[in-house]
Amino acid sequence: MKYVREYRDEDLVRTAVDEIRKGITQPWVIMEICGGQTHSIVRYGLDQLLPSEIELVHGPGCPVCVTSLEIIDKALAIASRPEVIFTSYGDMLRVPGSGRDLFSVRARGGDVRVVYSPLDAVKIARENPEREVVFFAIGFETTAPANAMSVLQAQNLGLKNYSVLVAHVCVPPAIRAILGSPENRVQGFLAAGHVCAVMGYWEYTPLAEEFSVPIVVTGFEPLDIAQGILMTVKHLEAGKAVADNAYKRAVTYEGNKPAQKVIQRVFMDCDRKWRGIGIIPGSGWCLRPEYAAFDAENRFEVSDIQPEESPVCIAGLILQGLKKPLDCPAFGNPCSPEKPLGATMVSSEGACAAYYSYGRG
Ligand code: SF4
Repeated sequence: MKYVREYRDEDLVRTAVDEIRKGITQPWVIMEICGGQTHSIVRYGLDQLLPSEIELVHGPGCPVCVTSLEIIDKALAIASRPEVIFTSYGDMLRVPGSGRDLFSVRARGGDVRVVYSPLDAVKIARENPEREVVFFAIGFETTAPANAMSVLQAQNLGLKNYSVLVAHVCVPPAIRAILGSPENRVQGFLAAGHVCAVMGYWEYTPLAEEFSVPIVVTGFEPLDIAQGILMTVKHLEAGKAVADNAYKRAVTYEGNKPAQKVIQRVFMDCDRKWRGIGIIPGSGWCLRPEYAAFDAENRFEVSDIQPEESPVCIAGLILQGLKKPLDCPAFGNPCSPEKPLGATMVSSEGACAAYYSYGRG
């Protein structure tokens, strides 16, 4: 397949790794932000190919993993209501809340449906005017434009039975929180290419300067990641704290301006709780007051939920780069994709799921 096969070319990857090996003079800890990158790294064994001076740690860029337990419990409560059709991306159905998941709600008669786009949920709302249709609007900057569009489309259609349960999170405040922590070990970042395709990478320049780290926009194929690491190592070795782009075929400095405009029209900044990490100030997007009628949290009584996290799960530490999946005593037994104790074992972008799927440990 064009534009994929050449980015999986083993010789090209090895050439990039050789160049990293020649240029490296000391140990560096580099975090890949996105869970999609984590899966590529583990699947293709990139971490094992790199010189031993480089330690890759896995970041919080898995939307399913960082969606807070409170929001998942709210989703479970809303989805259990008889008048509701609850729509969601498939990944969310198996994410454990406090003791159950959306699949178990469906097994008990809840009308929970998997959709591939929020616009499918709007269509369901049009076709079912007597029911309340709720879309679980999770994700980073990547999914925000389509979620915002669904609200605008529902408004244009005059739909009174469509709402969104918003759990949007944003990357730059998470990088700030990681770098600002006294326990931080990360010295360079691979930023998520798809997020930057929407937002550009202008937001990373002040972060790189403030915390003296290079932040390199990186894609998802093995060669993309090797080139992103190469660029990061070159900046680290040269002592350059810059935001740079190793994913030029998809990302510009400014990003997708029309998409950013749609996001700004519908959403505004708010504090957001990240699963296992806690509240990160200004790290989320919520609906603007003028779209409050589309906010599922306003429409349904779900404010008094007290979540209970599994006491053994260390996913929050993994998502901050402080631990790795194999450090968790529950990895593999009792925690597995069939019986997950935490979201990082469920999601197709979760670090624990990557280690489990590709036979680590
Ligand atoms: S292996 Fe399971 S319990 Fe351990 S951190 Fe990962 S998801 Fe949590």
